[in-house]
Amino acid sequence: MLANQIAAGEVVERPSSVVKELLENAVDAGATRIQLDIERGGTRLIRITDDGHGIERDQLELALARHATSKIQYTDDLKAIHTLGFRGEALASISSVARLSLSSKASNSASDAAGWSAIAQGQDMAVELQPRPMPVGTIVEVRDLFFNTPARQKFLRAERTEYVHIEETLKRVALASSQVAFTLKHNGKVTKRIPAAQSPEQQKQRIGSIVSNRFLSQALHLDTRIDSLRLWGWLSRPEHHQNSNLSQYVFVNGRAVRDRTLNHAIRQSYQDLLPTGRVPAYVLYLELDAEQVDVNVHPTKHEVRFSDARQVHDFISRAVAEALQPQNEVLSADDLS
Ligand code: ADP
Ligand code: MG
Repeated sequence: MLANQIAAGEVVERPSSVVKELLENAVDAGATRIQLDIERGGTRLIRITDDGHGIERDQLELALARHATSKIQYTDDLKAIHTLGFRGEALASISSVARLSLSSKASNSASDAAGWSAIAQGQDMAVELQPRPMPVGTIVEVRDLFFNTPARQKFLRAERTEYVHIEETLKRVALASSQVAFTLKHNGKVTKRIPAAQSPEQQKQRIGSIVSNRFLSQALHLDTRIDSLRLWGWLSRPEHHQNSNLSQYVFVNGRAVRDRTLNHAIRQSYQDLLPTGRVPAYVLYLELDAEQVDVNVHPTKHEVRFSDARQVHDFISRAVAEALQPQNEVLSADDLS
């Protein structure tokens, strides 16, 4: 219990950190629709419903245990991670600082079988199972975040602030998973609907609806490959600068990151093109061999480490600089689909 609460200190900072972990689990489970219900900025309730492959009854208890992950079988897998989760920490950590229930019906269970609901309670976190009729997929409910850790509760901000963080988290996950549809409800009202995208045209529209149509209508499109490296996405024209780091999104192999090497490389390419204090907006996807990048650097998995950081840095700053060349401006995002 205590070990879980300590781990929770690293993983669960605020409601949006819970949302991030649960959304990533749903994506990892192959969900095509994910519904997120939030009450009071996530402090009273966070419920995530997905239509992924679900969890079998006899695996539910394990899913709530610390360092139990179904995503890694061999230590070698750590060198080439293809799922968003892999540490097996999130559910155990969250259930140590909130009232968490995990309900699921596995896709390989008999069609007339009910799903099962698991709750870990008490000092020893004993797991209790109950039948729960539901369609195939998983429902995770997290109530009363930090009810047993008053020190953390004090750091919670206004409902509106926590909600904005949740929305931002959803945007990041949604930008990374264009084939998934998301719905966000806050206090019973739908506040965001993000459809799945099939075609490149739909994907472009989807990015406009997540980031902003104003960004997308002026943004430059880029798609550059060198050897096993590929960088693609959209970036703001130099004359469309902003003063905050909002709308700056970078994904490495489908994972949202905040990485200094990458941010530096991008900023460098804009350096002489923007007035001081102004910054660009961008949605950029970097793809490279899973062996060339280590995502197991920090529990929140925001940072990554490249086996050849210099190569990645140079590739990105060159690709971005090229996209910003005036002659490329005829190739605006609107011309591409
Ligand atoms: P990790 O994602 O690092 O494996 P978690 O604590 O987030 O660890 O989840 C533990 C395990 O519970 C996962 O490995 C997975 O087997 C199972 N699980 C969690 N959420 C879901 C979900 N939405 N659908 C299917 N399985 C899930
Ligand atoms: Mg996880």
